[in-house]
Amino acid sequence: MRHTEICIVGGGPAGLTAALRAAALGAAVLLIDRNDYLGGQLIKQTHRFFGSKQQRASERGINIARELAYAVQEEEKITVLTEATALGYYKDGVVLVEQNEKIIKIKPKKLIVATGGAEKTLLFPNNDLPGVYGAGAVQTLVNVYGVKPGKRVLMVGAGNIGVIVSYQLLQAGVEVAGIVEAAPRIGAYWVHASKVVRAGVPIYTSHTIKRAWGESEVEGATIVQLDENWQPIEGTEKDFDVDVICLSVGLSPLTELLWQAGCKMEFVPELGGRVPVRNENLETSVPGIYVAGDVSGIEEASAAMMEGALAGLNAARALGYNAPDLLQRKAEILKELEGLRSGPVGEKIRTGLAKVTC
Ligand SMILES: Cc1cc2nc3c(=O)[nH]c(=O)nc-3n(C[C@H](O)[C@H](O)[C@H](O)COP(=O)(O)OP(=O)(O)OC[C@H]3O[C@@H](n4cnc5c(N)ncnc54)[C@H](O)[C@@H]3O)c2cc1C
Repeated sequence: MRHTEICIVGGGPAGLTAALRAAALGAAVLLIDRNDYLGGQLIKQTHRFFGSKQQRASERGINIARELAYAVQEEEKITVLTEATALGYYKDGVVLVEQNEKIIKIKPKKLIVATGGAEKTLLFPNNDLPGVYGAGAVQTLVNVYGVKPGKRVLMVGAGNIGVIVSYQLLQAGVEVAGIVEAAPRIGAYWVHASKVVRAGVPIYTSHTIKRAWGESEVEGATIVQLDENWQPIEGTEKDFDVDVICLSVGLSPLTELLWQAGCKMEFVPELGGRVPVRNENLETSVPGIYVAGDVSGIEEASAAMMEGALAGLNAARALGYNAPDLLQRKAEILKELEGLRSGPVGEKIRTGLAKVTC
């Protein structure tokens, strides 16, 4: 049994920032991640970030990840376990972790869950053929391992992720036959969408994938136009010869540990699915368990870092650690978060948060 003051599950931007802030107050932190690297999703974001300058917009995600990971590894109050997967949370407050085929039991005084999100998928005939991928998986193949998923891709989803991954596929020398979007409008920021359009990739709005075809792997896909009630219009089908279908249809929070711990959960579509009810300190309904980042609602890395900072400070403070300017630091983070979520772009998130913050 390993004892620690704070255990953080997830070494993405939320978990790394939480670790740094808690350790800076003096708390001993054990940070675990199932990958063999730290940085979470950021490690594959080779594009310049959108968002506000204050939140590191126009920096590349991979550089932010490297910087945070370096700072964590330099901090002596933080112990890092990589290739370590949290398998379960038990009633007695024990987190069960598997690393190198060995089981480690961790008993933290406080737990911060920062496990991020998982990709959603779509129902259509033959969606189980090899060659149907999630966009995140394609991005990992291309940007982390330098492997092309195939020769010609049909992307489903024209939100930021679909459009950015399409562009990164083009950069890697993979042809993108088209991007299909069920909504009547492109969801991605224009700065990203115009780059793929300029590169000659057609974007089919009000269209969806009807089916994939192929014997033992993807050989093509059929798309169809949708009417204003999102119903397929017969006779509008188009066929594409592709060997990869890439689904970029959103993420949902990865909340299994929170369910196991008995945290109160609510279904909030604006935040991507079932999310934990939490207070302003990001503490869930189970005292001592905090959340930060995409696990608490799908947003962006900038918000994940701010939430991580809050969760880290609050967990350390609950253990008795303090600093003369602690309240001021918290107030600054809350103000930055409010700024990030302001305006029409943040409306969906604000509506979602109002349903689960008590
Ligand atoms: C293509 C793409 C482009 C994006 N572009 C931007 C952008 O321009 N600007 C922006 O702000 N955001 C962007 N984002 C969003 C951003 O990457 C995420 O919002 C952010 O990474 C969420 O941070 P997180 O720490 O909550 O989760 P993650 O980054 O997903 O990290 C979670 C970590 O938890 C680990 N983990 C999960 N479960 C376990 C377990 N049981 N045991 C151990 N470890 C576990 C995972 O391995 C992972 O390392 C983009 C996302 C994508 C996919």
